[in-house]
Amino acid sequence: MSIGPLRTFLALAAISGVTMTHTAASAQPESQIAITRSGSQPATSASADHFTGSARVEMRFQATAPARVSGSYVTFEPGAHTDWHSHPLGQTLIVTAGTGRVQQWGHPVQTIARGDIIWIPPGVKHWHGAAATTGMTHIAISEALHGKTVDWMEKVSDEHDNTR
Ligand code: MN
Repeated sequence: MSIGPLRTFLALAAISGVTMTHTAASAQPESQIAITRSGSQPATSASADHFTGSARVEMRFQATAPARVSGSYVTFEPGAHTDWHSHPLGQTLIVTAGTGRVQQWGHPVQTIARGDIIWIPPGVKHWHGAAATTGMTHIAISEALHGKTVDWMEKVSDEHDNTR
């Protein structure tokens, strides 16, 4: 190969390389990786309608349809917990700090601690929260069915609360 054709080949390769890079960069926005930066979403106080005690919720991610998974950090101060509720497609809890409690209706209260992962099957009535003297934070992940991730029920009675 003489110098002339080699130069031509290299020039064409460079051009096609640029073209390919340009095509990848102009992919549709919804096809691109999205990073939600830490601290970019404000925490909100958990509603007294569905929680007892002080808890705060940081909604961290909510997938775009057809995906339907969402997740949030929930931090419970000592003694704080949810009301009884269930999830139409279940829920995964990942405890990231502290010690807490989870209870399924008709079953004993169980202790949960940092690093534990709890699966709550669809439709199972339960509550979760902190221990009486220790706070607890978990990541709560659930999928929406017809746009809904939770069905709220009654407050946890003292009868159940005192078993902690
Ligand atoms: Mn739950």
